[in-house]
Amino acid sequence: MKPIRKFTVRAVVPGSLSALEELAGNLRWSWHEPTKRLFEHIDPELWRSSRRDPVAFLGEVDPARLDELAADGRYVEWAERERHGLREYLSEPRWFQSLGTDAPSTVAYFSPEFGITAALPQYSGGLGILAGDHLKAASDLGVPLIGVGLFYKAGYFAQSISPDGWQQERYPVLDPDGLPLSVLRRPDGSSVQVTLALPDDESLHARVWKAAVGRITLLLLDTDIPANTDDLRSVTDRLYGGGGEHRLLQELLLGIGGARAVRAFTELSGRPAPDVFHMNEGHAGFLGLERIATHIAEGHSFAEALQLVRAGTVFTTHTPVPAGIDRFERGLVERYLTGSLLPGVDPADALALGVEPGSDPATSPFNMAVMGLRLAQRANGVSKLHGQVSRRMFGDLWPGFDSEDVPITSITNGVHAPTWTDPALLGLAEATLGTADTEHADWASGALSAAEFWGVKRRMRLQLVEDARRRLAAAWSDQHAGAQAPLWVSRVLDPDTLTVGFARRVPTYKRLTLMLSDPERLKAILTNAERPVQFVIAGKSHPADDEGKRLIQRLVQFAQQPELRERIVFLPDYDMGMAELLYPGCDVWLNNPLRPLEACGTSGMKAAMNGALNLSILDGWWAEFAGEDYGWVIPSADAAGDSGERDALEAAALYELLEHRVATRYYERDADGVPLEWVRRVRRTLATLAPELGADRMVKQYVEELYRPAAEQAARVAADGDRGARDLAAFGARVRASWPKVQVVHVESGGVESPHVGDELRLRAYVELDGLAPDDVAVEVVYGRSRSDESIEGVRRTPLEAERSTDAASAASGPRLYTGTVVLDRAGAFGYTVRVVPRHPLLVSPAELGLVAVAD
Ligand SMILES: *Cc1c(COP(=O)(O)O)cnc(C)c1O
Repeated sequence: MKPIRKFTVRAVVPGSLSALEELAGNLRWSWHEPTKRLFEHIDPELWRSSRRDPVAFLGEVDPARLDELAADGRYVEWAERERHGLREYLSEPRWFQSLGTDAPSTVAYFSPEFGITAALPQYSGGLGILAGDHLKAASDLGVPLIGVGLFYKAGYFAQSISPDGWQQERYPVLDPDGLPLSVLRRPDGSSVQVTLALPDDESLHARVWKAAVGRITLLLLDTDIPANTDDLRSVTDRLYGGGGEHRLLQELLLGIGGARAVRAFTELSGRPAPDVFHMNEGHAGFLGLERIATHIAEGHSFAEALQLVRAGTVFTTHTPVPAGIDRFERGLVERYLTGSLLPGVDPADALALGVEPGSDPATSPFNMAVMGLRLAQRANGVSKLHGQVSRRMFGDLWPGFDSEDVPITSITNGVHAPTWTDPALLGLAEATLGTADTEHADWASGALSAAEFWGVKRRMRLQLVEDARRRLAAAWSDQHAGAQAPLWVSRVLDPDTLTVGFARRVPTYKRLTLMLSDPERLKAILTNAERPVQFVIAGKSHPADDEGKRLIQRLVQFAQQPELRERIVFLPDYDMGMAELLYPGCDVWLNNPLRPLEACGTSGMKAAMNGALNLSILDGWWAEFAGEDYGWVIPSADAAGDSGERDALEAAALYELLEHRVATRYYERDADGVPLEWVRRVRRTLATLAPELGADRMVKQYVEELYRPAAEQAARVAADGDRGARDLAAFGARVRASWPKVQVVHVESGGVESPHVGDELRLRAYVELDGLAPDDVAVEVVYGRSRSDESIEGVRRTPLEAERSTDAASAASGPRLYTGTVVLDRAGAFGYTVRVVPRHPLLVSPAELGLVAVAD
């Protein structure tokens, strides 16, 4: 029978155990092993079956058991100790508190998804898990950050696989009352509501949930409240669920509603308003428009408000795959961006922010990434290679500039070690290396023997094998009306066989089925009598992506063959809970994307942190970290004629490596059966690679390279009654008006009649400024090695100085003279040119205004 209403009744925990409720109420438990042990002790079996979620667990524990523990002085003391530890963690000074007073006061971090724990399924994949890890590392480092997202009633979706291999989606509804969330309220107890004005006099309302992620507050907006019409209640029904209009509503809510929720939260909690706003991908871009509207209400023009907003905004782009970028039909956006939604903002100005460069403004789709880049003075990609790719991909926004000049930097993603390191490795580090900091432990130390290490790795593999059997048996029952799974299911995988993992979302570029290019070859590798290999595979396809579902189906059908099914398994419903056991259980983590489409990839990092070696295409993070001891590089067949040939070549290389490098090394054993060389590599990976992969490294970089400069810039443009913003806006308008006439009229050179190394090239450039002051521009000689294709390689730049004219009349009209010299310090082909760019002390990059005049 279907209930007409559902709610969750929270457990009554005896007073002497109130510490348990406090510990369950802060998501720090999700990465704090001692807290988990405290809960597990209550009822280990129930702890596992409630998926290690303390809130759900406390709701189900037998009250008699709680009464028993409440009377057990030792347990009560243990719980109090953990409570004290949590309180200390929340209040003590940490890394950020040593930075001094010019550090940002508050960073608001906006993301469409957050993956913090399997118990709060508000993520679809890498983007969300990265956001979760960002919050956790910010908490550990003491960064004053506020997370902002949406609360999706059904999360992403739960996956099952039909007997013929087709992905099925289910949308189990979450009850926020059964989750570690609380409503944001005013002192009088009333709940805060955020409201957005919609067309046709409609309004969208949202309540605001708060989650405590260690020291970080995460705000999640939820439209499923009675104040909304039925239609609007479902705006936050699921993550990446609906099409254009539904998605647009979600993003308007995330950006505009999110900015309003942050304001309400900081006012209520007495915290400083954010000076830095970070958009994790373009989905939250509308937050910039909301902030512009606020500044317009203070009396600023759009252009001035834009400067105030840009100064403190950071934008991170996450994908070079065009389908991964949100684009809306212009007419649709136009309908929503009204004066009632954003008072004072001229819709034409707002719409112009999303116009794709080079397209007709009247018809261009509204591109959220492009808007993000226009609203943020600082932007980054998520690995070095992705930074390069993004500078090329978005280069048209800065026409006339070489891609090296495009103001998009990179910060390579990281993963949160305390979340992603298996407790067995933690226990080993504590017992033999004397530290609980697995990320910075000396794993190569002689204090730990290879045999002991290998024993722990085997336990981790066994744990995965058992989990896989459990999952497959449960999936079988589900698919066969509750029937018990056949015997072979209890025999799948083997804890002593080389285990290769492959799990991720299933967009085409990740090439789930590359391993099936030559099925016979793969079969031979799997069933090799001396050196067998087993595969554990998982991944969800977007519900609307039938192509992805076909890939899953092909794989599932391959894995169903009786002679293979114990060696290759597809585990349905990949999520963080599965991931926690999957990475530690694997010896090798496989990644074979179509280079360079994997922006970073983080699963390989998590595998490395759990003693796996990577076998990967040189893409994303691996392109900058690959090393002999850390795994193997699958060569990219970039020169292949077509994609079929490319796949075949790369798959052949994959088989070759697996068979002749990976498996041979793995099965090379000493007298005790320990693969000494393999273990040495794994321990080197843990000792020297893992510390580079941590989210702590990443968040420190964000603070130092982006947040701090952004906060300083925000202060600079706002100083003295926003004078900087006014100056910059006026400067931009003046320079733009003159720019069509600005040009390098003529360049004279001297000193290089027969050039030798050490000679000086003397330059005199005449520049038409069209009334701009000489200091409004920078005139530079751009030089380097000249190449046969008419480009300059290894570009360097030297400013030329304006000749101070003594003759007032000639200063006012006619070209201005700029002079300077370049020392020829290298032999070989040399080339140079002269360029003019706008110059202002508040511009961060010479390319910022997208204006340049180059000598021709
Ligand atoms: C880490 C992780 C991902 C992202 O993996 P990529 O390698 O970046 O594709 C996706 N899903 C889950 C559950 C993860 O833990």
